[in-house]
Amino acid sequence: MTTYNLPRQLIFGNGTRSQLPELLDRLHNAPRALLVASRSALASEPGQELRAALGTRLADTDTTIRHDPTVTSVDALRHHLADSHATIVVALGGGSVIDAAKTAAFLADQPANTADFLNGRATMPAHGALPCVAIPTTAGTGAESTRNAVLSDHDANVKKSLRHLDMLPIAAICDPDFTLNCPPDVTAASGMDALTQAIESYCSRNASNLTRPIAAQAAAMLLDALPHAVRKPDDRDSRNAVAEASMLTGLAFAQSGLGSVHGLAHPIGHLLNLPHGLVCAILLPHCLQLNLELACATNQLQTLQLVQKLADACNAGTPQGLVDRIAMLNRVVGIPNSFAQLGLTPAHDSYILRNCRSGSMTTNPVELPDDTIQQLLNTLR
Ligand SMILES: [Zn+2]
Repeated sequence: MTTYNLPRQLIFGNGTRSQLPELLDRLHNAPRALLVASRSALASEPGQELRAALGTRLADTDTTIRHDPTVTSVDALRHHLADSHATIVVALGGGSVIDAAKTAAFLADQPANTADFLNGRATMPAHGALPCVAIPTTAGTGAESTRNAVLSDHDANVKKSLRHLDMLPIAAICDPDFTLNCPPDVTAASGMDALTQAIESYCSRNASNLTRPIAAQAAAMLLDALPHAVRKPDDRDSRNAVAEASMLTGLAFAQSGLGSVHGLAHPIGHLLNLPHGLVCAILLPHCLQLNLELACATNQLQTLQLVQKLADACNAGTPQGLVDRIAMLNRVVGIPNSFAQLGLTPAHDSYILRNCRSGSMTTNPVELPDDTIQQLLNTLR
């Protein structure tokens, strides 16, 4: 059986932010929106335009969410949402803002703290309280098409996903104009996150005939366009290609799941306090190489054929050629080759091994035993 969960409407294109008021009017008779925004996206010209266009539909604006949202920051957002009497949430920002906004919208009518839901002490409600419209601004996370949010709880020392079908945004507007304001390091990290999502979706155990062509297309587009988008931030064609590919990866991996990079990225990112995209970018060539070696060693011809097809779609020649192309792309966009300078030590290993077996690891195409992951960590520092 295959189930596909998608936003009701996904709007893509330059200038499509102008469609937000009409979209809200279709979703609610008298919409009152809490605009949850990153400061930089809101301060940009398209951000200012978007806020002004909301007119009387704007109940209030919240710019408190930073990178890696915590359960306490989501609690504060839920209080703001209640005080504003909003009927809908609009998320304008990267994955952190979108994840926090969709969680707050979903839990808006619940008495328990967000940490209680994340740690299983409170039962998730059957239905979400308010709808959320997502407007991604960084081109990379795909959070506008997923039904989970990655949250950190510092008291419990965890970073993990809260998940419910009603956390899926009801609609999304992907306007590449917002990405013109992204600095090169954010463009590089979020673009490499999108490439990781494309490749892991393609190779996932749960990939389907719908998701594979979308993931392959997105991977090819990102490999070609990302270097230009990083080096020439004003290059609209490259920005558009990266933004469109990012949206495609969201559609694909939200159905198929991911793999070992994302399994490892959450504990490593949490321990070292690094942006998610940067961690994924560093891990991607190493994990793909490891998956290929294990597939060879255990004679998993299907996996090898699959990666060959992906390499063909990306004009990389061979599976090893694809690994090399990713490693080269990392060098070109300024991503380090390991965590050597980023603080990864042997003292972190037991936490990573204990916390990497999330949903993402279960859809990795090959089994990765603990001793194999331990060897991988040794090569990453
Ligand atoms: Zn990711």
